[in-house]
Amino acid sequence: MSAKLIDGKAISAQIKDELKEKTAALKEKGITVTLAVILVGEDPASQVYVRNKKKACEYIGYNSLSYELPADTSEDKLLELVQELNDRSDVDGILVQMPLPKHIDEKKVINAIDPSKDVDGFHPVNVGALVIGEEGFVSCTPAGVIQLLKRGVPDFDISGKECVIIGRSNIVGKPMSLLMLRENATVTVAHSRTKDLEAVCKRADIIIAAVGKAKVITADHVKEGAVVIDVGINRNVDGKLCGDVDFEAVSQIASAITPVPGGVGPMTIAMLMNNCYEAALRHHR
Ligand code: NAD
Repeated sequence: MSAKLIDGKAISAQIKDELKEKTAALKEKGITVTLAVILVGEDPASQVYVRNKKKACEYIGYNSLSYELPADTSEDKLLELVQELNDRSDVDGILVQMPLPKHIDEKKVINAIDPSKDVDGFHPVNVGALVIGEEGFVSCTPAGVIQLLKRGVPDFDISGKECVIIGRSNIVGKPMSLLMLRENATVTVAHSRTKDLEAVCKRADIIIAAVGKAKVITADHVKEGAVVIDVGINRNVDGKLCGDVDFEAVSQIASAITPVPGGVGPMTIAMLMNNCYEAALRHHR
């Protein structure tokens, strides 16, 4: 069997185009969506992420405010800026690019963001809302996985399916499990202490790998016809980008699979843009 490729690049482009159209309609009503992005320090990967977020804003028609602060910025100074942006009525979303320099407490910064502007979905109020099924912002990567499943494999009904998520981080694994529960899947969360990962994965109709280790999911982990979503971003021995899944082997067994790159990766920014749009709608309700 050769799996259908779930094209994250195409699906994220589709979502951004939909947002572009909806944003133009908002503009006609006099509403401009504004995202404030804060970057502390000069981490090259973070600089790329921030640049891509700004580019996406430009494409869709959002206003983006950019704050690039030196690495030695104090925690107080950063918290002051967050507060200032919380208070500004023209700012809909606030994003503080992680990781922050070691002398700054990330938790404190996340908690300082007004939950109604927390477009990353990291604030405990938004995490709690997800747990109890209330309206709030959902972490972008897991939200992107749901869109990949719904748009990339439209005939596949998630409801009632066995879903195994590998990884239990606060930004991917845990919110992913809650979103899959919301879609009525039967959810198992596997992690570094799981015994017999192979047997656990083998019963899954949907496997979502979010580990951060190349080839941790092999053909032996996958049931014939399963849908496989690879969130991992790793470098293989040749320095090439790869996911957590042994793509070559697993794509012979799965019914649908995401590639790395070009799968989950592009979805994260698309869902961030979606959260910004939702934030603006709420602010103007
Ligand atoms: P993390 O390090 O916080 O969590 C990794 C999880 O994997 C942990 O819960 C751990 O228990 C589990 N784990 C580790 N070794 C394991 C093993 N051998 N078997 C089973 N479980 C094991 O990582 P994270 O932030 O959740 O990210 C996971 C991966 O997803 C990384 O490669 C990261 O780069 C990638 N990621 C991608 C995107 C994207 O936009 N595509 C976004 C976020 C994270």
